[in-house]
Amino acid sequence: MNRIEKLIAKLPENCDGAIVFSMTNRGYLTEFMSSDGTLLVFRDGAFFITDSRYIEIARKKVKGAEVILQGKLADQVAEICKDHGVKELIVEQELTLAQFSMFREALADIRLLDGPELSDAIKGLRAVKEPGEIEMICAAQDITDRAFLEILNYIRPGVTEKQVAAELEYYMRRLGADGLAFGSIVASGENGSMPHAVPSDRKIRKGDLVTMDFGAKLGGYCSDMTRTIAVGQIKDEQLKIYNTVLEAHLTSMAAAKAGCSGKALDAIARGVIDAAGYGGCFGHSLGHSLGLDVHESPMCTPSRDYILPAGTIMTIEPGIYVEGKWGVRIENMILVTEDGYRNLTGSERALITLD
Ligand code: ZN
Ligand code: ZN
Repeated sequence: MNRIEKLIAKLPENCDGAIVFSMTNRGYLTEFMSSDGTLLVFRDGAFFITDSRYIEIARKKVKGAEVILQGKLADQVAEICKDHGVKELIVEQELTLAQFSMFREALADIRLLDGPELSDAIKGLRAVKEPGEIEMICAAQDITDRAFLEILNYIRPGVTEKQVAAELEYYMRRLGADGLAFGSIVASGENGSMPHAVPSDRKIRKGDLVTMDFGAKLGGYCSDMTRTIAVGQIKDEQLKIYNTVLEAHLTSMAAAKAGCSGKALDAIARGVIDAAGYGGCFGHSLGHSLGLDVHESPMCTPSRDYILPAGTIMTIEPGIYVEGKWGVRIENMILVTEDGYRNLTGSERALITLD
């Protein structure tokens, strides 16, 4: 079964088909990424409408759908729906209000279902990675691991966070990345207490912890890792938070297995951090899935209980952030399997100290 056929099997019984408009969802389903396109999925066939910029390559690459050159989109969609006798169509929750209004106007005779079912069905498909997807994410992570080794030769007192970010990104591109999975984070010294700090002109100093959170994009797929390293001699408290985060990372990861609860894994990591006296210093969730997007469903979070299926890729990324002082985060990716997990991140996790 191709991905579109898998989606059809998951559509709610009452609806005749679906409109998939958001970029990564239609890119996932057709295995063809483009900035423009509309995917119509019916029980007896699928259509991918795109403009002249993509039509040639789309005809070669799109899987499971007939490719049509875009004219007046609203009229085309209405006509195809009429041909297929469509009465009820489900739309994604990812649509903007403007996009939803456009379809509602064009399809005045058709009932549009705007519940979560379509988005949830696609999320469910995307959560379980196919072998080719796992291979691509591992290749992206390999680039990321190699860029990390390179950056260790570059970081020294006096270089700025922005310079470190620029070098990291250059290494990833040079090693074959198509681009970045997301804007790199390089946070040194007191900036490290902000989990999503933007690289600044701050110069790295002796005694700093430096947190780098970065990833490559390859074949549309993301990798994501974080390491915190020390530059010069650090204080006992910095070492203590490093070791606490490492313990939280290792113990929560050790409990990962298909069928386990993401909320429970988060609670294991949070328990280690709380017990060390850093309750309240770990504000974000333990981890997220990733693929075509850097943040995907499911998650390991205290706010909702997701059950992790076999074949999902999760990050495990606990952190401790002490306001105005410093921060530590350690992030690996794992593939969740029936009997446990496979670690996909090759970089060392023991504290690295640069002189
Ligand atoms: Zn990250
Ligand atoms: Zn992450």
